[in-house]
Amino acid sequence: MTDPRSRLDALRADTLGRIATLRAELDDVIGSASSTTGDDEHDPEGATIGFERAQAQALLDAAQTQLVAIEAALDRVDAGTYGVCVVCGRPIGEERLQARPAADRCIACAS
Ligand SMILES: [Zn+2]
Repeated sequence: MTDPRSRLDALRADTLGRIATLRAELDDVIGSASSTTGDDEHDPEGATIGFERAQAQALLDAAQTQLVAIEAALDRVDAGTYGVCVVCGRPIGEERLQARPAADRCIACAS
């Protein structure tokens, strides 16, 4: 197996960067929303901002969920259980770990 720690560290750095970007975007959207009348109900502009905010929030939530998964995977590297399925205890498989380094289940258990 190629070094999972460096792979996870790189992914963690990427994800932290994405979270920072999304937070800034969300602040922008919220900032521009509060500079308008704030009447979401009757202002089409307000509805668009509401939609953009929901989208940015969903992306941010997904990135934060991924960060938690990456940190859990790093803990498993420390514990020596990385790459082992948490459900059935079999190896997860190098190909799957390449595609999803934070995976904690083999393909059979994840589906
Ligand atoms: Zn499994």
